[in-house]
Amino acid sequence: MRILLVEDESRMSDALSELLRLEAYDVVVCDDGIAGLALILDEVFDIIILDVMLPGMSGLEITERARKHQIKTPILMLTARTELDDKVRGLDSGADDYLAKPFETRELLARLRALLRRNEAPTEDILKFCDIELNLNTFLLVCTTNSLFVRLSDKEFRILEYFLSNQKQILTREQLAVRIWGYEHESEYNKVEVYLTFTRKKLQYIGASVEIKALRGIGYELRKINV
Ligand code: CA
Repeated sequence: MRILLVEDESRMSDALSELLRLEAYDVVVCDDGIAGLALILDEVFDIIILDVMLPGMSGLEITERARKHQIKTPILMLTARTELDDKVRGLDSGADDYLAKPFETRELLARLRALLRRNEAPTEDILKFCDIELNLNTFLLVCTTNSLFVRLSDKEFRILEYFLSNQKQILTREQLAVRIWGYEHESEYNKVEVYLTFTRKKLQYIGASVEIKALRGIGYELRKINV
């Protein structure tokens, strides 16, 4: 994953690039707005982190210009906490998300993961596992053995899509929370169980032979029901 970081404060830039490299991201650093825009137009990145206040050209203007050039790379804007206007203008300019300084590195990483996932184009319209099929366009969940189907709510869909995209993997409550809400927030962790219950009911309703099994202290797994 290749990240462009445009930030003129060297301490911030050094700390962030080190953090991102530790997370195995390939980081290109730039400390000037005009040079940053040139990089965006010339090269390919998976994600762009932009400071708002930059010499040469502001992060807002860079975003607007990049979007005019049909660059659709996700942009995370770094704003000052007090500047509410910056946040609104950042999103208006075409940024995908913003983070107010100072922020926790954990949150930055969670936001980046969420943006990267959002950018992943689904390769197929239908995900399958055992006797269930999930249609990514209609949100319909079908049991192929009896043709019963049900429509999933947005959150149920995100949960099941996550399991079906990561088959045979155990997913933690934290991973599911980030998947459902798009960012990491501890107060949401307990709600994961609620949405898992809804999703399980839909699986039962269509008579699917798969279940979301809780593995105490570890996480959850989508698996075939043992009969
Ligand atoms: Ca700055």
